[in-house]
Amino acid sequence: MAKPILLSVDDDSDVLRAIERDLRSKYGAEYRVIGSDSPERALDLLKQMKVRNDSVALLLADQRMPQMSGVEFLQEGMRIFPEAKRALLTAYADTNAAISAINEANINYFFMKPWDPPADHLYPQLDDLLDDWRASYRPAFEGIRVLGTRWAPRCYELRDFLARNHVPYQWVDVEHSASDPETKRLLEVLGPEATSLPVVLFPDGTKLLESVPAEVAQKVGLRTRAQTDFYELAIIGGGPAGLAAAVYGASEGLRTVMIEREAPGGQAGMSSRIENYLGFPTGLSGGDLARRAVVQAQRFGVEILSPQEAVSARTDGPYRMIKLADGGEISCNALLVATGVQWRRLQAPGVDKLQGAGVYYGGDATVALSCKGEVIYVVGGANSAGQAAMNFARYAERVVLLVRRDGLSATMSKYLVDQIQRTPNIQVWTRACVAEVHGETRLEEISVLCTDTNKVERVPASSVFIFIGALPQTDWLAGVVERDDRGFIKTGPDVIQDGQRPKGWGLDRDPYLLETSVPGIFAVGDVRHGSVKRVASGVGEGSVAVQFIHQYLSKV
Ligand SMILES: Cc1cc2nc3c(=O)[nH]c(=O)nc-3n(C[C@H](O)[C@H](O)[C@H](O)COP(=O)(O)OP(=O)(O)OC[C@H]3O[C@@H](n4cnc5c(N)ncnc54)[C@H](O)[C@@H]3O)c2cc1C
Repeated sequence: MAKPILLSVDDDSDVLRAIERDLRSKYGAEYRVIGSDSPERALDLLKQMKVRNDSVALLLADQRMPQMSGVEFLQEGMRIFPEAKRALLTAYADTNAAISAINEANINYFFMKPWDPPADHLYPQLDDLLDDWRASYRPAFEGIRVLGTRWAPRCYELRDFLARNHVPYQWVDVEHSASDPETKRLLEVLGPEATSLPVVLFPDGTKLLESVPAEVAQKVGLRTRAQTDFYELAIIGGGPAGLAAAVYGASEGLRTVMIEREAPGGQAGMSSRIENYLGFPTGLSGGDLARRAVVQAQRFGVEILSPQEAVSARTDGPYRMIKLADGGEISCNALLVATGVQWRRLQAPGVDKLQGAGVYYGGDATVALSCKGEVIYVVGGANSAGQAAMNFARYAERVVLLVRRDGLSATMSKYLVDQIQRTPNIQVWTRACVAEVHGETRLEEISVLCTDTNKVERVPASSVFIFIGALPQTDWLAGVVERDDRGFIKTGPDVIQDGQRPKGWGLDRDPYLLETSVPGIFAVGDVRHGSVKRVASGVGEGSVAVQFIHQYLSKV
């Protein structure tokens, strides 16, 4: 933990050195002692400290300085760090000025120069001041801080990215600056930069304006570039299926890289509570599952590139080549596609415009917390919508579940239906769908079409979370592997047509169970045609695929 700061300012370098020496010898173990020979420079330092989220315990300034008096400096300093204790260093001739400063300018104490011996004329009074300061001191947050507004899509995107990558951060909502003096002070120190949202402040004092996930990822040390250009196994997608394959592949000695576009965990990472995964009788959050799996994969030496996206693939003799979004290319012996599915878009006027500003696809703990005391809408009737409704019900005043059908039982697991029925602040609105969403810069109302009466009801709403099914995004593999008409990748027996192996197959064996129409390219999990859309089945397929990959590699 960073030590709180004692800052002294004196234009006389001998006096400055003496005060620094005495402060350091008595307080150096607990405090950082910093000196400045100019009040202007000291104010700049204070601004940098505010941006770094440092704690300042004491401002000690000489009264007679040419550019700015000690009292003026302390008053300015107090605007930035109001909790810091303030003391003046004065000569005998300035005693009257110092006394009136105590009364008029909120100065806590004045010391006469020279203060020898410090044990009598400096330390006892400073001990008192610092004890007082300690009594109300709360250590500042030491990680990165994100400044933004709840309704700005770019801020939402960044927070979602940080949360899903398990990067701890403190959220500073700049719209609360009127009611939160600390936020107001921070915005004043940042000046015009505070409008380039989202602003990310790092503990080393650096900042990113209008920051985007990729920049922040680099700064916090998430790896996006491969260490080498060749791997025995390359996995595209870091959901449960990709992570399982990574753990099994690397643990069995394959040099393995896993490329993930957003954050390891995939859809499962968005789940507030997975209750049907074997071995976790009370359930576990998708975030926890992802974090544990990432640690396990890294322990076996898997190289994880995230955020990084595969944008095309091709074959070159025995090699499978993958082009990455940053222009890089890696090659491998075996390629495993585990890119899962992505949310289906809700086709209703206003939805695209307000995405991230009250309209969300999925929804994690970050947003759930912001909905405290509000009425929110969840669209969808499957397990993902049910889990989200249960999660949001812990924070929101009321959760309205909008369901197209006349009930939940056909599309949702019974345990979730039972939980929803037992939760008093969840209302299930059946035979209903979103017809339109309204709002200029943020969601304000939604129009709900009641399909039994064909009437549209317009209701106030601050947040709508959409969970209406998902589809694969596999266009980057068009012309490489065979897909069905919805884009799911065909594997094993599904690529055999009328007893014929795929065109250009070229081997005297049929494709393995999880192998695509191209030898050495495998597909597992939700992206696979005919797969069971569950965490356990994705994990199972990812693990089993590694056996087929070994068999394939033994003959390459
Ligand atoms: C909210 C929610 C709750 C759920 N709850 C449960 C539950 O309780 N129990 C259960 O069994 N199942 C549940 N499911 C379903 C389960 O999460 C999925 O079946 C499972 O995650 C599928 O795993 P996967 O690895 O195949 O794909 P995904 O989890 O979809 O992961 C695919 C990954 O690939 C990445 N990707 C995609 N394209 C690219 C590319 N071109 N380059 C790089 N990366 C790419 C994506 O960013 C994603 O991270 C839930 C799903 C959701 C959304």
